[in-house]
Amino acid sequence: MNIKDNLFIPVLNTWASFTPFSVLKKLGGQKVIFPTYHLVSNQEVPHVGNLYKIRSEKLFCEDLEFMLRHFNPISIDDLLKWRNGQLNLNKPSFFLSFDDGLREVKEVIAPNLIKRGIPAAFFINPAFVDNRELMFRNKASLLIDLFKKRKINFQRTFERTGVKEGQFIQMVKSVKYRERDILDQLALASEFSFSDYLKEKKPYLDSEEIMQLKHQGFHIGAHSMDHPLYEELTLEEQVAQTSESIDSIISKDFSSLKTFAFPFTDHGVSAALFNQMYENMRVDCSFGVAGIKHENFKFHFQRIPMEKSLDSARHIIAAEYIYYILKSPLGKNHINRK
Ligand SMILES: [Zn+2]
Repeated sequence: MNIKDNLFIPVLNTWASFTPFSVLKKLGGQKVIFPTYHLVSNQEVPHVGNLYKIRSEKLFCEDLEFMLRHFNPISIDDLLKWRNGQLNLNKPSFFLSFDDGLREVKEVIAPNLIKRGIPAAFFINPAFVDNRELMFRNKASLLIDLFKKRKINFQRTFERTGVKEGQFIQMVKSVKYRERDILDQLALASEFSFSDYLKEKKPYLDSEEIMQLKHQGFHIGAHSMDHPLYEELTLEEQVAQTSESIDSIISKDFSSLKTFAFPFTDHGVSAALFNQMYENMRVDCSFGVAGIKHENFKFHFQRIPMEKSLDSARHIIAAEYIYYILKSPLGKNHINRK
């Protein structure tokens, strides 16, 4: 039985709301927590809007204030020193990170972090830097947005591709990395240009902006070349995606550290890849998004995804503590990779 099953959610939500946070923090007993986001925006973002919840700047700032009240912000250097036993963390701490290198990092996120003196890491995909290409999931979100708002006429698309109008959203949502050409075919048939969208909207950071973030003291890490789901790749492909993206970060001088955040999830990723990462590629640390969990690989950290709902950081982190506390006696907080 999975305690994240729907049946338990109302009970857990009530528990998360009514238990004092300081009590949960104590019972949970984590030295470091790892909240992670993608973007923050007060505007609609069509290439993201159908993928996860977009936080407003106000909500995001409330999250930051909450975290600062209960935790100490730490940088990637602090994190590595702590893990190496060279730094003692007196207070429970948080390490903040943001994936996908979206433009809102520079426009909304970084200024709010700088204002509060919070360090952070940004994990980027070299294929999308400088707006050279649109990620397949961003294409899917954008097509759904255009369809929902009737911004373009998909009639021609339906006739040409045989896709039925009633199944369009479901079909676009389910397109996998390997089938991503389908999204280009749909756009082509409906005379929508992803490249014009890239040129006009510039959804991702460019190299200069990334360099600027580095100079502002932020850490830049790798997030695979073009964001595949690792579970669907062969080991050779996983190695190539990981090492090429890390090499790109190093060669562009975005960082001297080798850090990697798995795109989507590290679920189903074998110990063989981790062995290659830590032995051959000499990765400094890596990240997943499985909530509060521990790993056999000492420098692989699991993060808390903050965009599944628009609940407050207090609520999301409290719920994660509760899952952790409940699973503790069952020994289910540890990920054993085969
Ligand atoms: Zn991502």
